[in-house]
Amino acid sequence: MKKFHTLFGSVFLFGLSITCHAQGHTHGEAELFVAQEGDNWLLQFVIPAEDALGFESEAETDEQKTRVSSLISDIESNTGIVEIANKCALTDVSHSLETHDEHEHGHHNVEIEYAFSCKVTASSISLLIFDTMPSLESIHVEWIKENGQGSVILNKENNTVTW
Ligand SMILES: [Zn+2]
Repeated sequence: MKKFHTLFGSVFLFGLSITCHAQGHTHGEAELFVAQEGDNWLLQFVIPAEDALGFESEAETDEQKTRVSSLISDIESNTGIVEIANKCALTDVSHSLETHDEHEHGHHNVEIEYAFSCKVTASSISLLIFDTMPSLESIHVEWIKENGQGSVILNKENNTVTW
């Protein structure tokens, strides 16, 4: 398990550095980092709040607050976010929507992290999130697996990475 945490720790750091770098992100473009070790898969999305929520300021109106709680519900139940092939159980979810302590102006990202446990090695990941977030045009996917690493840019028409 130690190796597992080391791998995931490095991915989280990688993700964080990207997040900082992406404060001047491009609306419509998101990132997904995928790490696999054994049965364990970690997926980390970094999405412009403009695409995730439709606004980047702190939620103020009732409509915006409803949008935030609706998205939290979708994320936590993995409804319309991501589909991972073969028998995978969602074991953990975390996201940045619960932390309201940062009052930063300007660009803002929403981060979502999923941990899955797969009995059979996952052969593909489909990003249903394009339907949930219609303004999202592309997602740059990077993966680190036991048998190699790579990247691909997915979009609405081509929303699946297959290994
Ligand atoms: Zn922005």
